[in-house]
Amino acid sequence: MKRLSALLVVGVLLTGCAASPSTRYEASFLDLFDTVTTIVGYAASEAEFRETAQNIHDELLEYHRLFDIYRDYDGLNNLKTVNDNAGVQPVQVDGRIIDLLNDCRAYWELTDGAVNAAMGSVLSLWHEARTGGVSLPDPDALAEAAKHCDFSDVMLDEAASAVYLNDPAMRLDVGAVAKGWAVEQVCTNLPAGLLVSVGGNVCATGPKPNGDVWQVGVQDPDGAGNLCTVPITTGCVVTSGDYQRFYTVDGETYHHLIDPVTGYPARYWKAVTVICGDSGLADALSTALFVLPQTAGENLLEAVDAAAMWVTADGTVCYSPNFWKEVRM
Ligand code: ADP
Ligand code: MG
Repeated sequence: MKRLSALLVVGVLLTGCAASPSTRYEASFLDLFDTVTTIVGYAASEAEFRETAQNIHDELLEYHRLFDIYRDYDGLNNLKTVNDNAGVQPVQVDGRIIDLLNDCRAYWELTDGAVNAAMGSVLSLWHEARTGGVSLPDPDALAEAAKHCDFSDVMLDEAASAVYLNDPAMRLDVGAVAKGWAVEQVCTNLPAGLLVSVGGNVCATGPKPNGDVWQVGVQDPDGAGNLCTVPITTGCVVTSGDYQRFYTVDGETYHHLIDPVTGYPARYWKAVTVICGDSGLADALSTALFVLPQTAGENLLEAVDAAAMWVTADGTVCYSPNFWKEVRM
């Protein structure tokens, strides 16, 4: 009985706190997924918000380390460890890596290979060339790398929580989905009233305390302002654009979104924005739609509960039929 009344007192106090959080707070972090993370929320005090933001950051940092293909961390088997052991041996990993790779396989199947987390061999050639900034990848090396991107060679042993790449030249690169997927996992466990953005993967956990929807700006690929504003209460808005990571060779720009069919940057769009209830799927779809022509993209959207907006090279904007319906939910 004593125990029950103690719990009741806490409940009343919490209700009291929940009724008053009228101040808007914002926190930014620069150490996650090589991009900017912003968390917006309402709280009764700055200390309360800071704690929430810090907890979100700390959880995202775990995903960042697990999915990192460039860095080793003491005592941690991450995707770099998996890549380093391609064709050598299975690597025992955290269950979150198995879950991510299971979803990557589903995205690969759903998009008919347009988004392929097993094409790291090709993507790393572009990454190196972009970092160097002066030349294109060698075409013969690209053609050879393209032979080692079959996701069927990613062997997942769920019972042993182990991953084996059954092709010594295969490399994983989950850059197309990792941010959105991690945001989805973290936001699932958050209370309503928060907006989490990791490098443009924006997820709302529910309306603001006063019931208002969030307004998510979609950047104009040609300017400093927003192309449009998308209102959401829960759900995600994700954009893939050719202006995010690119370099120039002989006056031509080469960006980071690679068409698996050609092995070269896709040239259909300047930007694609996806609205979807699931942030991992939204991230996968934004990359997939970017590397597909519009009809193929529209066919893909019919299989899932998502809406999209495409921006062409000359700035023309196209919407899937459900786009405006979707954003008014
Ligand atoms: P960003 O990471 O810039 O927000 P995306 O979510 O579209 O944009 O992911 C881009 C990253 O995904 C690239 O940096 C590269 O690592 C990887 N990538 C590029 N093209 C593909 C593709 N067709 N399939 C899978 N991964 C890709
Ligand atoms: Mg993506």
